[in-house]
Formats: sequence, C-alpha cells, structure tokens
Amino acid sequence: MTFDPSALTLAQKAALLSGADFWSTKSLPDAGIPSIVLTDGPHGVRRQAGDADHLGINDSLPSTCFPLAVAVGSSWDPQLAAEVGAAVGREARAFGVSVVLGPGVNIKRSPLCGRNFEYYSEDPYLSGVLGAAHVTAMQETGVGASVKHFAANNQEHERMRISADVDERTLREIYFPAFERVVREARPATVMCSYNKINGVYASHNRWLLTDILRTDWGFEGSVVSDWGAVSDRVAGVAAGMDLEMPGSGGATDQQIVDAVLAGRLDEELVDESVRRVVALTELASDATGDLDVDGHHTLARQVAADSIVLLKNDESTLPIRPDTRIAVLGAFATTPRYQGGGSSHINATRVDAALDAIRDQSWAEGVTIEHATGFTEDGSGDTAALLDEAVAVAARADVAMLFVGLGDRDESEGFDRDTLALPAPQVDLIHAVAATAAKTVVVLSNGGVVSLEGWHDEVDAILEGWLLGQASGSAMSDVLFGRVNPSGHLAESIPLRLEDTPSWVNFPGEQGHVRYGEGVFVGYRYYTSAEVPVRYPFGRGLSYTTFSTESVVARVVGDAEVEVDVTVTNTGERTGKHVVQLYVAPAPAPVRRPVRELRGFAKVDLGAGESTTVTLRLDRRAFAYWDIELDRWVVTAGDHLIQVGSDAATITRETAVTLSGDTIVRELTLASTVGDWFGHPEVGPLLMQGMSAGMTAEQAQQAAENPDQLKMVESMPMQQFLAFVQGAIPEESLEQMMQLSRSAAGVAR
Ligand code: BGC
Repeated sequence: MTFDPSALTLAQKAALLSGADFWSTKSLPDAGIPSIVLTDGPHGVRRQAGDADHLGINDSLPSTCFPLAVAVGSSWDPQLAAEVGAAVGREARAFGVSVVLGPGVNIKRSPLCGRNFEYYSEDPYLSGVLGAAHVTAMQETGVGASVKHFAANNQEHERMRISADVDERTLREIYFPAFERVVREARPATVMCSYNKINGVYASHNRWLLTDILRTDWGFEGSVVSDWGAVSDRVAGVAAGMDLEMPGSGGATDQQIVDAVLAGRLDEELVDESVRRVVALTELASDATGDLDVDGHHTLARQVAADSIVLLKNDESTLPIRPDTRIAVLGAFATTPRYQGGGSSHINATRVDAALDAIRDQSWAEGVTIEHATGFTEDGSGDTAALLDEAVAVAARADVAMLFVGLGDRDESEGFDRDTLALPAPQVDLIHAVAATAAKTVVVLSNGGVVSLEGWHDEVDAILEGWLLGQASGSAMSDVLFGRVNPSGHLAESIPLRLEDTPSWVNFPGEQGHVRYGEGVFVGYRYYTSAEVPVRYPFGRGLSYTTFSTESVVARVVGDAEVEVDVTVTNTGERTGKHVVQLYVAPAPAPVRRPVRELRGFAKVDLGAGESTTVTLRLDRRAFAYWDIELDRWVVTAGDHLIQVGSDAATITRETAVTLSGDTIVRELTLASTVGDWFGHPEVGPLLMQGMSAGMTAEQAQQAAENPDQLKMVESMPMQQFLAFVQGAIPEESLEQMMQLSRSAAGVAR
C-alpha cells in the first residue's frame, strides 16, 4: 500500500530524504518506518562494521569477491551474470543489507577510465542485457539493486564536477540504453545518480534526466539515490526527483528542504512524492540471516571467472598445457593475484586462490614440473635486473614459460584515470627477455582496463586476458591453462593499436570543466569498424580450444520492424566448448550518419564436439532504429538492413538482408526549411514543382530541365532566402497553404 505522508510533519518528511549516517536511512518508528542499509556493490558485499568510507579504505566483513563486471562482460553470459547477482543478493541478506550499490552499467568510452573494471562493456546492448540479468536475479533474493552511475559518468578525472557535454542522440543511443533496459526489464529498486554534470546540469538535480527520461519515458517507479556526496543543490534535487541523499548531511540539507517549502520555492507535493518512494524502499528491510555459503560461492566465483577469460592468441596450439611439460611460472601476479580494483567496490575476500598454488595442485597428477620466479615486483621495488635474470634462467629450463603480468592498484583505481595503456616497463622488459629465451611463452594478463599488447605481441605464443577475475582468479586461470575449462570469453571492448586511435582521444578527459563527447555515437568498435581504423583485437574477439562454424543465418520479418533470426552453429573441433553467437545489424541508409554495424543480439551456447544447434534471436524495432533529434523519437528507415553474424565486430562470417518498410517520416516545413526539404517533401514537393513550372515561360522551363545542377546549388538554401531570389515566383498564400499541408501531413496540430 502506498504510504500517506500527510500524517508526518514537514520536518519529518524532509528528514526521511537523507541518510542517518554513512550507510543507513533514518527510521521513524512511530510511523512504522524502519531504517535500511545500503552498501557496495557491485561484485560482492562491502559491509563495514567499523569506520565507514566510500573509497574502500577501511575494513569490511569478509564476503565473496566475485568476478568484476569487466570479467562478466567478457563472459557474454547473462546466466552467469544472474548467478553472480543472486549470490551477491544472498550475501547481502546474510549481512542484513537491503540495497546493494550496483551494478555499474556505464559505457567504456575510453580505455583509460580508471573505473572501467566496474563496467561491463563499450557496447550498450551487452551492458544492458548483463546488467538486467544481474539485477533481476539479485532482486529475487529480496535485496534491492542500485544501478549506477546515471548518467554519462565515463571517467574518473574531475568526476565530481566535470560537465559531460553530450548530444541527445548519443545519450539515447549509447549512454542511456543499458540503464533503460535495466529499468524496463529488471525494475531496480533504486537508480544512483552520478556525480558529474550533463550538459552543464548536475545529474543530482537534473529534472530532464531523473524525471522526464527515467520516470516518464522509461516508467521507473523506484527511488533515485545520490552517489555518495553527489548532492550540489538539495532543493533543486527534490524538484528534479532525486529522492534520497546519501550519506546524511547531519540535518543541514533537510532544513534547506523545509525552508524552501515554507518560502514557496519548492512544492510540498514533490517532497511527498519522494517520501512515498523512500518509504516504499524501506519495505526491503530485513534482519541479517547470517547465512553465508562461503564454499559454494567460492566455487561459483571460480566457474564464472573461468568462463570470462579471453584467449586472444594461441599460436600452434600452445595451450592447453599438455602432460609432461616443464613449466616456468613467472611474475609477481602468480603468487599475489590482482583480482579486484581499488575504491568503493573493494571486497575483503573470504579467501584468495593464487595461480601458482592452483597450477601446482592441478598439474601434479599430469607429470608436469614447475619452477617459479618472481621476475618483478608489483610496486617496482627490489633489484629489477636481478629479478629479471633469475626469471630468464628459470624460463630457459622450461618447455613453456607462463608470465603473470598486469596492472597494480597504483596503476588504476576508482578516483583517477590512467594516461597510458602501457604495462609497467619492468614487466615489458621481462616479456621481451623471457620470449627471447623460452621455447614457448604464454602471457597471462590481470588488468581492469585495456593494456597495450604492442611491442611484444608478436614475440609470444599465447595470450590470455584475465581482467580482474575475483577471488578465485588463480584457480580459474589454471582451469583454462590446463584445459579443464575450454576458454569461451570474448572481448567486451576493443584493444586498440595506439591510444591515439581511440575515438575519444582528442577530447578525453576534457579541460576547463568540460569533456566533449565529440565522437558522438562512434564509441569503441562502432568507430573502428566504420572508419576502418585497424585495432589489435576487435570487440567480440575470443579463441577457443575447439572450433566453431556458423552454418546458416535465416531472418524473417515478423512484425512492425521486428525480425526473427535463426543461426545454426556447429562445434567443428574435438572438444566440448561454449560459443557466442554475435548478431550485428548493418542498417539501411539513414538521414544521419550511423555506425556500419551494431551488436543487437547474442547467445552463448554449449556444444559437444561435432554437435550443432540452432538459436533463434529476436530483434525488436529498436535494433534497427536511430534517435531522430528533429522528430524527438526513434526512427527506422525503409530499405535493406543486413543481419550479420560475426566471430567479432570486424569479422562477419554470414549475413542476410531483411527489407523493412520503415517509418513514414513527414517533416513539417517552415521558411527555415531548405529548398531541398521543400522539393523533397512527399506532398508539397510535387505541388511546388507544378506551381513553379506553371509560372515559367517555355524557355525557362526547358532551361531548368536542362540544368538540374541549378537546383542542387540552391538545395541547402533556406526557403526564406530562396524566395528573395525568385521574388513573386511563389505567391505568399500558396506558401502558407503548403506549410499548412506539411503540418497536417506531419500530424502537427496548430
Ligand atoms: C562511488 C559509488 C559507491 C559510493 C558508496 C562512490 O564514491 O562512486 O559507486 O557506491 O561511493 O561507496
């Protein structure tokens, strides 16, 4: 039942709209309103029992650190995202936490963003599907989600004050859809507004964002929570629909709300609406169950991690490791895994599997011998040359050298962005030296954001991208190295050749308070494939120990721009393995510039050797549409749209076309519309042509017919200016009639 705020005083109502402390809301026992706890998130529960902070500095109770979003993104598996969501939900219940702050569905606009490890992908569809799966499953356990950070929070640099200057089409097509899908499909209990401004207005008091888009367009019924400390103008925030300020302000901003209502600057009904939503949120209150399945969740963390690892390169089937191999396990990350990122998502893991231990466990039975050397230290301390020499000596005695390299906490974290894609220099030196010595070299990467593979890529035999795999990272990596699990991860973000090639490079991270999203919708692979800029590895890339072939793609139109696609795939290799069917749409020509193709569907299938399956994917009209800023709506253009199946965004293996009738677009004509618009208008154009020719002499008409280029020259001229040149050629009342005709054809009432 909806709460009736009329029994509360204005001061009580205002007080409910901010936290009691760092992690909990205020209770009002007389009114039957309990306090609830909201805490991070997203890939585990960071429940602090002592000193609180939002940067992961102080301790929290032990909980499972599941693979991070960067890893789950690479799994391309909504089922796994759901299992992680459900497990996080169960752990939250164990601690009496009602809302877990996550998942983060911001788009990876630049590989430099320090917090990319908390986000799924550079693609909004993949991010949205995985985010929605996580939220749905987590909320089924009785715990609320807080999908974050809404919106256009794609960097850490000046995150608390920068203005993300983004055009509306780009917001609608790239930065909003993941939020939109989670809101529409998974109905999260809360949405967390971001710290930054969007086109000059702070997200925390942006009514267009928090009410017009989120609630009116997408039907969001939950509460908006501020990111911790994101409130800049509390009164404007209430007016915008920002319900709950976290953490509390010690009463200062509650008083501002009261004063604003009393002074007539804030409608009390808006306060009431926020109160109703916050009270509805407190229905999630529940006591701690204390029931933490430490072992079961560790096993799950290992399974998800193994399915998230991306095999980027595997020359001459270097992997999996065969029995009776002498292995050199090198690198500091083999013994001290980097498995999570720094900041508010930092988990106090229940246990941590190091790769060296896991490899020793797993390989002993297969007659494998193992030698280990550190090779480098994460913080660069120690005698670099001696460490390198020792590692090279060990590598020289091995059949396969495995190098565990990556980024450390000092290289990337919440709170700052990187300024390079390079691995730390001692690690690169080690790769060169080992690759020059060892019979075979395998590089295993642990990093939250993309690192450059240039300079050493061609020297090594195999590369596994592990991202940040959570607390079972070492055992999961060992499962893949030895083939207990067939690698099935695929890149959820492109790996560029050079930082300068990245589409946001000229604008990132902005200057003088603004970051211009100048690349528009051409983010990630949308840019590389459209501009034909080569990358090291494209979005979607991922090898396997077996092979798959796409046998056929059959598409049929089943409704208004709705299409069903059957894709048949076969495991043509000798092992069981999982495969991701990636479906892209290459749209028909449109009046706006569109990416050559966009991911619009995918499915992960598990196939035994020789086995085939057919998956059916459904594409809705949005899969074909662009956002038209003049019409203020999604538009599907008429014509042939290609349905493409790719092994990655740059490699299309099969395609078929569907012909869509598209939307009939009739635009209103004004004197500011161009001559081209007027002549091109389906109803007005022919009339205009008729009228103009009627007023011409036979000689003029012949001249016009012989010189079509003349029309081209004036095509982009606004009608107003054109009329000045052809004075009297079109009588004023016919112009008015034609404009009226265009208004009724466009359905504009006036
Ligand atoms: C982060 C949020 C987090 C919050 C609470 C902020 O600094 O941006 O993602 O949920 O702190 O720790």
